[in-house]
Amino acid sequence: MVSRVIPVDSFDLVIFGGTGDLARRKILPGLFRRFLAGQMPDTSRIIGAARSDLDDDGYRTMIAEAIEEFGGAEKEKSEDVKAFLGRLHYVAIDAKGDGGWKELADLMRDDVVRAFYFSVAPSLFGDLAERLHSYKVAGQDARIVVEKPFGRDLDSAKALNDTLAQHFNEDQIYRIDHYLGKETVQNLMAVRFGNVLFEPLWNSHYVDHIEITVAETVSVGGRGSYYDKSGAMRDMVQNHLMQLLCLIAMEAPNEFTADAVRDEKLKVIRALQPVELHHIVRGQYEAGKDTPSYRQDVEDPRSRTESFIAMKVDIANWRWAGVPFYLRTGKMLKARTSEIAVVFKDLGHSIFPGDHARHRNILKIQLQPNEGMDLQVTIKEPGPGGMRLIDVPLDMTFADAIGEDVEDAPDAYERLIMDVIRGNQTLFMRGDEVEAAWAWTDPIIGGWEQRGDVPKTYEPGSAGPEDAMMLMHRDGRKWLELRAK
Ligand code: NAD
Repeated sequence: MVSRVIPVDSFDLVIFGGTGDLARRKILPGLFRRFLAGQMPDTSRIIGAARSDLDDDGYRTMIAEAIEEFGGAEKEKSEDVKAFLGRLHYVAIDAKGDGGWKELADLMRDDVVRAFYFSVAPSLFGDLAERLHSYKVAGQDARIVVEKPFGRDLDSAKALNDTLAQHFNEDQIYRIDHYLGKETVQNLMAVRFGNVLFEPLWNSHYVDHIEITVAETVSVGGRGSYYDKSGAMRDMVQNHLMQLLCLIAMEAPNEFTADAVRDEKLKVIRALQPVELHHIVRGQYEAGKDTPSYRQDVEDPRSRTESFIAMKVDIANWRWAGVPFYLRTGKMLKARTSEIAVVFKDLGHSIFPGDHARHRNILKIQLQPNEGMDLQVTIKEPGPGGMRLIDVPLDMTFADAIGEDVEDAPDAYERLIMDVIRGNQTLFMRGDEVEAAWAWTDPIIGGWEQRGDVPKTYEPGSAGPEDAMMLMHRDGRKWLELRAK
């Protein structure tokens, strides 16, 4: 199968923080892969803008090393790398001062898409926005891309939105949640709204419950000081898990346009019920045989920040009334996997004598480590011996179904950056969505703070604290096994 690469318009993409970790690990190697795929018009340019005192050549050397380290493809022929590096420029800039801004303004061209990626600390967003405006670098057509975290509570998110709104319209602002750039996440919408099969069953009449799991095997590692100020709720649930929940739970938009999709997601967030504190389990990993505990990792023996969270969430609307959504995410768990499972209700009555097993259809949507879907169905066990039933997965792993080209498909960052250049905001969070998500999150975090909640501990390499199992046991349910597929 030949992959279809649709070129985008010519662009000048400025990456503020172009020497930083995110730019070197994800953004530039991703752009290189799009370049290799032939998606980047000849006249497009990427301009790194950061504090380091570099020139174009110095920046190209830095990015050549980054591509070698993080490029992730054998195709990195030196000729291709050289051609890509030719597209790179660099301006030493001070977000808080005047240095570099005139040079940047002189470098920009009028007849191409102008995009500005804020790959810097959120505390610099206001400074950048103001100077982009005052130095006339970015006008009404420019697009700006902002990274997570978008605030740490409702007030700070509102303040960020207000700051950006002083100089940019909402249709110019692209708030990234890279989970939304994953192939499977988009496929979730294709499966739901492109088939007649699922949508009639996608409601409280047929769905028993839904699980959303984002499990990591790594510790907080070197991110300890950042992580300890946020925790799993702010770092994962408020954004990534919430976005997945919205896509699973939303009504069909009347068309597949940015605002129609985001309007529906917003309705889901607004329908989320406040979560009772006993429906939440927070955890912190203990020390392992050779691994430090969470508290040792963050160098705070009294830290109360959670590295794990499991919760039961209810959505108050006609479609989902009575269907619990169980969310869990954490570090140092036994498998690295991101998965959504739609668990359908039991068959009301079995006609097969002697069959007392519980057979359930389960649609599993995997996002990590491999992207794909499978649908558990009940069939007759092959061979003699009468009607014995077994449950088997109908595997829809994309690499098998669609062919090798899946490996060449853009990763989340690449796809999202190309969407920015195309001017397509569908897979980006709107300001009101982010605020609504914080409005739901804030009282939960406030509740823990008020009562001095201390997370339960859990063994590294486990599925989290025992209480997380109890959360579902109490409802007569059980988490699906935590394993990488
Ligand atoms: P980093 O510290 O590695 O890089 C920061 C960059 O900002 C550097 O290029 C630096 O030169 C530039 N910078 C700092 N102060 C400046 C100033 N006054 N003027 C101009 N440039 C300045 O940070 P990072 O890890 O690349 O993260 C960047 C942003 O992306 C942060 O908001 C972070 O939360 C977010 N983010 C990072 C990751 C990741 O994996 N690194 C993942 C998700 C989100």
